[in-house]
Amino acid sequence: MDTSTPSSRRQFLKLSGLAGATTILPSAQVGAALVEESKLSSGRAKNLIFLMVDGLCNGTLGLGHHWKLRNENASLNWIKLFERQGVRRGFQDTASANSPVTDSAAAASAWGSGERVNNGRINTDSSGHDLKPLFSYAKEAGKATGLVTTCRITHATPAGFSANVSHRDMEDAIARQYLEREIDVLLGGGARHFKQVQKDGSVTDYLSLFKAKGYEVATDASALTAVNGRSRMLGLFSDSHIPYAIDRKNDPSHKNIPGLSEMFRAALSRLDGSKDGFVLQVEGGRVDHAGHANDPGAILHEFLEFDDCIPIALEHIEQNPDTMLIITTDHGTGGCQLDGAGEAYLDSGPALDRINYLKHSFEWIEEHYRKNGQFSPAPVKEALGIESTLAQASIVQAALDAEVEYLSGALNRAFGQQLNKQTAVGWSSTGHTSECVELFAFGPGSESLPAFFKNCDLFSIMTDALGLRV
Ligand SMILES: [Zn+2]
Repeated sequence: MDTSTPSSRRQFLKLSGLAGATTILPSAQVGAALVEESKLSSGRAKNLIFLMVDGLCNGTLGLGHHWKLRNENASLNWIKLFERQGVRRGFQDTASANSPVTDSAAAASAWGSGERVNNGRINTDSSGHDLKPLFSYAKEAGKATGLVTTCRITHATPAGFSANVSHRDMEDAIARQYLEREIDVLLGGGARHFKQVQKDGSVTDYLSLFKAKGYEVATDASALTAVNGRSRMLGLFSDSHIPYAIDRKNDPSHKNIPGLSEMFRAALSRLDGSKDGFVLQVEGGRVDHAGHANDPGAILHEFLEFDDCIPIALEHIEQNPDTMLIITTDHGTGGCQLDGAGEAYLDSGPALDRINYLKHSFEWIEEHYRKNGQFSPAPVKEALGIESTLAQASIVQAALDAEVEYLSGALNRAFGQQLNKQTAVGWSSTGHTSECVELFAFGPGSESLPAFFKNCDLFSIMTDALGLRV
């Protein structure tokens, strides 16, 4: 921590007369004093925690808010942020370079490089030039870097702070860049991109390459929490994305897969105490996926899991006031809403209780059917509490026969109306939305956050706060 900060701040307050409010300054002088204070504040953040949820619609927040009040008689941690001391809030325009509706690659690149890029790109502009990402600047300043996500670690959002590729699907290349750029902590899914088949048919085992660079490697929750070392760490807990929170909760076969909170704590314990500070991005990645799938049970539990990470971050900044904390989302997904249901909307409350009958995600159902290519009623009954009709069964079977990429579309055609009636959760589409989104900032540098800003404006707010030479 910069020990000169408190005394220089005291000195400033004394000089400006703001400390005891005993001297009344002319307004021009007060303005100058405030500018001076903001200068003093900038560059004082040793660390940055960037905590984000992918694809959080305002309507998903409303759904979570009312579910939490009704079921647990408590407020979401997200809602409590509005009343917290020292919070700065901004409303964020989330567009990309080529559309009012961003994808996660362009959104993370806007934050990560300060420039809007086209959808699908990771820190490369439309002429193919690389834009230097935030983590490269942080590394130059000696800071440790970390990425945590419930998606594949090579997915768009973590890559947006640390990689350069012309398309987000180049996940093998992203894994290779993580190794070359020595991102210190990598925790998430995506093991499939760390054993790469080369053109000549040989397989490059990235796990051993990471180990050779001094990384500890973990593949389950016990290994993640067992070691409390300070070394670099690569933790890959699933071949693709980490299973949804609702499935980890209700399927015992997932019990050794860590959740977002466990990964967040493990990353903090490794990065905390880094001599020149750290920059850590933590992504609740799958609210977005549940939004694309229009899956009400999955989206609620995924957001609640993210919400549980907020106190971990707040506790950290209380003990480390030299840390800037940002909490936000990159765009909305699915247009999720708790709709008015029943006469005078009196069924919307009970509908919230009926979300509790949902025990598994569509993805969990899909995995059962993929195994033998056949529909059977049991998984739908277990996951959604629904007895399938022949018509519903044939919709799902037709999708299985057609070998579609995801079954969520067929599951929605078959069961969506029934689920909407049961839960009152409605959707505007299976894509992203253009909505502006909330951002909370705490700690040094947060005073520079405007009330309304573009996603790409955040880059200089973060680099100024960290005193990075850009
Ligand atoms: Zn998405």
